[in-house]
Amino acid sequence: MKILKIDHLGIAVNNIENGKKFWTDVLGLDFEGSETVAEQKVTTAFFPVGESEVELLESTAPDGPIAKYIEKRGEGLQHIAFRVENIEEALEELKEKGIRLIDEKPRKGAGGAKIAFLHPKSTSGILVELCER
Ligand code: ZN
Repeated sequence: MKILKIDHLGIAVNNIENGKKFWTDVLGLDFEGSETVAEQKVTTAFFPVGESEVELLESTAPDGPIAKYIEKRGEGLQHIAFRVENIEEALEELKEKGIRLIDEKPRKGAGGAKIAFLHPKSTSGILVELCER
């Protein structure tokens, strides 16, 4: 498995419009645009930082995964995403190493990326996303 870089940091927020002010007005990052991923019940907004990005995540429904996350733990860092060269190969390798996978097969994420999540039980508590673009 080859990890190329930290692709993005996923941050759960109640409201992207409010959350966005800190990243753009205060830190001066560019806002790259937002996208709704209907099947994940989430709207995402991207802010490039060097070779990586900050991704804000706002739930589009009260029963969506981000809404549930915020209900339990409040707003904040929700996942770290690593860009890999070949996501199928990476998942295969991690499975062989006994890592618990949330997604056995990649699904479609924002920006047409192939993404898959690893279970926090296998990663010292952080939700890890793999992505291939
Ligand atoms: Zn993500």
